[in-house]
Amino acid sequence: MKVLISGATGFIGRHLVPRLLEHSHELVVWSRSESKARGLFGDSIKVITDLSQIDSGDHIEGIINLAGEGIADKRWSDERKQLLLESRIETTAALVDLVKRLECNPDVLISGSAIGYYGCRSDDLELNERGEVVDDYTHQLCKQWETTALKAQAFGVRVCLIRTGIVLGEGGALSKMLPAFRLGLGGPIARGTQWMSWIHIDDQVEIINMMLSQLQFAGAYNLTAPGAVTNEEFTRELASAINRPAWFRVPAAMLELLLGDGSELLIRGQRVYPERLLEANYKFAFPDLASALHQVLEPSD
Ligand code: NDP
Repeated sequence: MKVLISGATGFIGRHLVPRLLEHSHELVVWSRSESKARGLFGDSIKVITDLSQIDSGDHIEGIINLAGEGIADKRWSDERKQLLLESRIETTAALVDLVKRLECNPDVLISGSAIGYYGCRSDDLELNERGEVVDDYTHQLCKQWETTALKAQAFGVRVCLIRTGIVLGEGGALSKMLPAFRLGLGGPIARGTQWMSWIHIDDQVEIINMMLSQLQFAGAYNLTAPGAVTNEEFTRELASAINRPAWFRVPAAMLELLLGDGSELLIRGQRVYPERLLEANYKFAFPDLASALHQVLEPSD
């Protein structure tokens, strides 16, 4: 299958691309930097820096949309929030415009979203794909991102929205947490009762790969393992996986100072349940946190 990917040079894309190549897909990577994409993937892919480089007669069969400014990279000022939104909506809208322009419609668009769709919350409510939302900034961002992607349906494209949880793998969110934990300075955040819905990178990649070719997948899916945990449990498991104590509690006020409104992502959370994936009989390779963390953190022989 000929597949166009945006955001392929990011954390998820770096794991996804080799997997798709193993499955003999022909990949076109849309990146802002040809040298970055080439440096990562060599000559095994085609790189474009502008969608105008795709000819209307090209038969792109699948599109995977992962592009967006890093969510937890910087303090959230009003300008940063605007950039987080625009970098996602504009890329997604450009992909839908491409779909309109192509003479032969792609079969599928798999488009990024996040569990932030349900809003940042402090309750224990378990959320399936029809779960109740809190109408805050993260909900608005994900909602607009999803609504833009769904416009491709008008051209006969099957659209899958991947409401992704905290992806655990080499790099990503864990690489931000580990330095403090390795020094024995890790600990629960604020009250520690907020939920953390996570997914192992191998499951994330496998699900995207499955959605490309299996026609049964359409609409919104929670990409989270069935075993969401509280921040306190996550802290305990992470500290135990690297054999360190985790005595230091991180005060909410400190995070607010460092991350601005972005601290809400850590101080609150979402208890998300992957109901539609389980209904589709997807078997998670890493359904529980301990096995996921051990796989990522223990060196393989
Ligand atoms: P990364 O931040 O690692 O990479 C995203 C990619 O998007 C970058 O490599 C870059 O590609 C592109 N990008 C960055 N800024 C911009 C911009 N201003 N305009 C256009 N493109 C930009 O993301 P992940 O791989 O971690 O995640 C992929 C998607 O999944 C993201 O949208 C993210 O929000 C979402 N997600 C990720 C989660 C996680 O835990 N990792 C959790 C929930 C959702 P290039 O430089 O090649 O153009």
